[in-house]
Amino acid sequence: MVTCDFLVVGGGIVGISVARRLKKIFQTAKVVLVEKEDECARHASGRNSGVLHAGFYYTADSLKARFTKAGNQVMTEYCQAKGLPINQCGKLVVARDAGDLSQMDELVRRGKANGVVLQELTEKDAQKIEPRVKTHGRALFSPTTSSVDPVQVTLSMKKDAQDEGVEIKTGVAYQGRIKDGIRTTAGDFSAGYFVNSAGLYADKIALDFGFSENYRILPFKGLYLYSDEPKGAVRTHVYPVPDLRNPFLGVHFTITVDGHIKIGPTAIPAFWRENYQGFDS
Ligand SMILES: Cc1cc2nc3c(=O)[nH]c(=O)nc-3n(C[C@H](O)[C@H](O)[C@H](O)COP(=O)(O)OP(=O)(O)OC[C@H]3O[C@@H](n4cnc5c(N)ncnc54)[C@H](O)[C@@H]3O)c2cc1C
Repeated sequence: MVTCDFLVVGGGIVGISVARRLKKIFQTAKVVLVEKEDECARHASGRNSGVLHAGFYYTADSLKARFTKAGNQVMTEYCQAKGLPINQCGKLVVARDAGDLSQMDELVRRGKANGVVLQELTEKDAQKIEPRVKTHGRALFSPTTSSVDPVQVTLSMKKDAQDEGVEIKTGVAYQGRIKDGIRTTAGDFSAGYFVNSAGLYADKIALDFGFSENYRILPFKGLYLYSDEPKGAVRTHVYPVPDLRNPFLGVHFTITVDGHIKIGPTAIPAFWRENYQGFDS
């Protein structure tokens, strides 16, 4: 039985961040992180749009609004300090028709309330930033929205965690709760505190501890189309005004950290969790 003070399950960006913070606060504590894959960032943390959001989509009193704004600044500084690539390309939000304008006004209100810089532009001004962009009447520009490489960021944070004394055990999967701890594929662990940051399996693990009875994760898959236009052909992210009632941002043009153009993601129900390619698991 391995004994530790904190056992973190899941080596995505959330688990690694939590483990680092715990080690920073409780310096003498033994913090162990287990990840079922042979490397961290194999799932959502390494398979996303890589957009460092600015924080104007969320209502002002929410933790999401606070954390997104603060996280944008901290992550920008982190990438610069570590020499990790960051593309400070900004983001245009465009209206497809007149029906989008009231939601665009709501984004402006949220941006102001959250203290996030936003510029309101005419279509002509928007085209000075992105010549081929079209919008219904007006657009918004967020200068602090950027792109990072999510795999590089997460693996850099993993290395920081290890340097700071967090024990990271990859290829070790949580299997279930036992009387005095948890069972993994590498034996049993006993921990003072257990942190569940298992991404798409977090709901199942939570059930073992009496939480999440009324919640289930419904896996959705996002597909991207890579444009074969050369780097720099589109200079800034271009997003539609989102429907703020649902969690999806709408299909958008994302400029990757190295200047390539991705269109997506779609949001289609996946057959099962961590299902990325057709019927393959
Ligand atoms: C298509 C898409 C695009 C996105 N784009 C953006 C974006 O542009 N910007 C942004 O900020 N966010 C974006 N997100 C959201 C972002 O990717 C997630 O919020 C974030 O990666 C979640 O991190 P996580 O650590 O919670 O989960 P994950 O990265 O999924 O990590 C969970 C980890 O737990 C491990 N695990 C699971 N079960 C076990 C077990 N039994 N034992 C041990 N380990 C286990 C998994 O292997 C995995 O490594 C996007 C998400 C999607 C799906």
